[in-house]
Amino acid sequence: MVTGKNVKELVGLIIGKAKACGADLAGVASVRDLKRSPSHAISERMPEFDGVGTKDVQGRQRGVVKWPERARSAIVIAAAHPSEKPEMDWWVTGASAGNTAGNRLLMGTVSELASWLEKEQGIQCFKLPYHIEHGGIYMKDAAVFAGLGCIGKNNLLITPQYGPRIRLRVMLTDADLPSAGAADVDPCEDCPMPCRIACPQDAFEERIYFPEEYGQKKLPGRNGGYNRLSCNRQMVINQSDFEEVEIENRQDLGKQVKYCRECELACPAGPKSSIGGIA
Ligand code: SF4
Ligand code: SF4
Repeated sequence: MVTGKNVKELVGLIIGKAKACGADLAGVASVRDLKRSPSHAISERMPEFDGVGTKDVQGRQRGVVKWPERARSAIVIAAAHPSEKPEMDWWVTGASAGNTAGNRLLMGTVSELASWLEKEQGIQCFKLPYHIEHGGIYMKDAAVFAGLGCIGKNNLLITPQYGPRIRLRVMLTDADLPSAGAADVDPCEDCPMPCRIACPQDAFEERIYFPEEYGQKKLPGRNGGYNRLSCNRQMVINQSDFEEVEIENRQDLGKQVKYCRECELACPAGPKSSIGGIA
């Protein structure tokens, strides 16, 4: 059981352990806060989206999170995906687990961290899948509350250390831990938005969500100007452009897809950047 006295120490220990297990960044957010965060608050009112990455699960409304009853905090971990290692992001169907090298790394980190929390700290963990319909949560919101960065005008999490070139994974726990709180970073404020210009589908062109409609100012793409149907169009094109690749311990070939990252790779934010990076 976590008491007020040792909370800070425990959070420090968790972050240190997550990094020792392979995370590049880690933070903690309270489930109470997350339930009120922009994506979770808006999810029931968003139009149903049936694109790449969504799942049909009986009895579940697409995009709506189902929280485990005993979950009190979220541990968010991030792995850097630098532009010089594009293979970390290549998606392979038929591979054993994780589909990308980066995702396998994150899953390994979460497993090791969960095992340490349960065995050595007596904290119950709920390892979450990626898809909301299978039990996942909105990871970018969790990362903001955990103090990892802010949501950029490319609708991605922007971190001072790696810009948007990171991938996230979240695990819930039954420990009542506080949110680190939003980091004081906003690289987008005076940026000429190369992220939006780079989009091959003009996904940021049109404002399609409005504060009056959703009752909150924090909207997809920050100002409501992000159309995931347009982005999905590009994902479908990328899928049709697959390459056949060999998969370890399998006779048949897998399909490797290189999904679009233009809005991510065009963003200059990150280390040594004059816009919201760390020197
Ligand atoms: S390119 Fe500029 S506006 Fe776009 S996400 Fe990066 S910092 Fe923000
Ligand atoms: S991933 Fe590609 S298609 Fe989707 S919003 Fe970014 S740049 Fe546009």
